[in-house]
Amino acid sequence: MLRKLLQSMFAVLLGQYLSLGSIALPQSETGPDAGYVATGDVQAGIAVIRSLDVDNLPAGRFHFYFHAGWKATGQKFYVPVMVLKGEKPGKRLMITAAVHGDELNGIAVIHQLFAQVAPNDLTGTLIGVPGINQPGLQAGNRHYVGSGGSTMVDPNRQFPGKKTGGDAASLYVGNLWYHLLKDNADLAIDLHTQTRGTAYPLFVFADFSNSTAQQMAYGLLPDMIKQDPGQKGTLETAFVSAGIPAVTFELGEAGRWQQTTISRAVDGILNVMRQQKVIAGPVVKPLVAPYVGKHYTNVYSREGGMVHIHVALKDSVKKGQHIATMVDPFGQEVRRYFAPHDGRVLAVAIDPLREAGAMLVRVLR
Ligand SMILES: [Zn+2]
Repeated sequence: MLRKLLQSMFAVLLGQYLSLGSIALPQSETGPDAGYVATGDVQAGIAVIRSLDVDNLPAGRFHFYFHAGWKATGQKFYVPVMVLKGEKPGKRLMITAAVHGDELNGIAVIHQLFAQVAPNDLTGTLIGVPGINQPGLQAGNRHYVGSGGSTMVDPNRQFPGKKTGGDAASLYVGNLWYHLLKDNADLAIDLHTQTRGTAYPLFVFADFSNSTAQQMAYGLLPDMIKQDPGQKGTLETAFVSAGIPAVTFELGEAGRWQQTTISRAVDGILNVMRQQKVIAGPVVKPLVAPYVGKHYTNVYSREGGMVHIHVALKDSVKKGQHIATMVDPFGQEVRRYFAPHDGRVLAVAIDPLREAGAMLVRVLR
């Protein structure tokens, strides 16, 4: 155990050394043949790049900042990029986090995953982007938050974005898609959580018409899976439409790091890496099969108020079961809510304050 820990610490230190090594390349050696195009800027010792081609990188560990967009002050948005290029060629697995800027568990998943894997473990390449939505992260908000709060756009409805001629959010997304994400992935996992004030279990959205995406969904060892045709503008659907099998992996709650959930997600991704032959080892089967559904129904509050939720994540519910009670500011019952059909509880409100029209419970069947 101690040996493993020391090895992983060494790997991190070695990675720091190698990433510094990568930025020490003279300017004349950057360019498409070097695997990345540098802007010439260095941010806190890390090279700033405007495009990446991992196929042309040597084996090793690299850190970059990708210049994804501009602030209205003339300064830049830097998206951190981690690359572990294996000794042997193979599939390139892209893992992205915080497309929604307040969904943080996935950032720790990428950090912990990269600390556990070394280039000589890999047949292929692992690319991690722990913080896609920098404007949202800075504002503590799921949206792309424009200068002065001028724009509030869901970036996960904007992919693939625009190369030119768009607004700030679609240009930012387009930069990421066309110069970082699309051409460096054979497989992709986009890490999210439920929206602030609500919670998911470990849960996967997957388009089962793509057989590799279906395999990946099971390989992640989640509690629940939704067979999903995909939604236009999401990063997952942009990947699948480009012929790159991808899933959206939902990890608990926004705005915090939940270590149990993070550890389970790391284990699930390592399992998919074994399944897809990116690392060696036996593929783990789940102890409890995930609950798989095709449809879900949201139960929304009719009036604003404070809600008591009477079910927990993953509970079985029957149609008509009393699942929530809304009370007014005096604690008096306003309305009871009931399960719309049989199924399992996929999401619940954890913030008791609910506006009219807010989700209380989501039931998957
Ligand atoms: Zn999200």
